[in-house]
Amino acid sequence: MNKKYLINLIEIQNLDNQTCVHLKNIDSHRERITSIEQKQIEQTDLKQLKTKQLQTFNSSLSKLEAELFMVEKQIKKSKANLEVATNQQQLDASNKELQVMTPKASALETDVLEMYDKIELCQDEIAQIDTFLDGAATTLATITFEVEQDVKAEQLEIKELEQRIEALLEGCPKDIKIAFLQANEQYRFKNPLAFINEGTCNRCHYLIDKNIQNQVEKHFSLELCPNCARPLIALSITRTEAP
Ligand SMILES: [Zn+2]
Repeated sequence: MNKKYLINLIEIQNLDNQTCVHLKNIDSHRERITSIEQKQIEQTDLKQLKTKQLQTFNSSLSKLEAELFMVEKQIKKSKANLEVATNQQQLDASNKELQVMTPKASALETDVLEMYDKIELCQDEIAQIDTFLDGAATTLATITFEVEQDVKAEQLEIKELEQRIEALLEGCPKDIKIAFLQANEQYRFKNPLAFINEGTCNRCHYLIDKNIQNQVEKHFSLELCPNCARPLIALSITRTEAP
């Protein structure tokens, strides 16, 4: 067997490893977009949550203000009653009401102020989310074109590699081509070829029979590792002629 075919296979594996690098590059180019989209989703969800919170706070505020209004009205009424009281019993009754209503009114005032603070904080958070979402939309619009160009450039490189691989495969006898393609189906980007190193398969470390070692060293035939089924190649080839 002409050892140039084995050298072709090594070259194909090297070229395909470059393909792997370009595929990873494409992923990382696209990751620029997906990471922003992911944050957009998170922030949109958060905005929904904050908007609901704001609605709850606003309705609580309305209730508190209505309650305060009623208590203040009662205080006013008690004070007026105090002014027009004609006996001790009426005076006592109005004073008793005021003793209950006055602290109630001041507690409600505190609650109202606290609710205003909560509403303000919530509105600020929503405004911050809106600023982020606007920025993210602008960034996406800018980088989408950039990413598309980067991806296209990687795809062109991949296409070129595929053509070179195809040409090298076509230059091999059919049995060698099939053996490689079968191994590549199982081990693509995980080194479909194996070398015999100190009598073992350098990928799975299986001890290779002396007879097979001899066949491989002399390039008499294309042998597969009995364990991992990768085509076996003599290490001497890589030392002298592999790129
Ligand atoms: Zn093996």
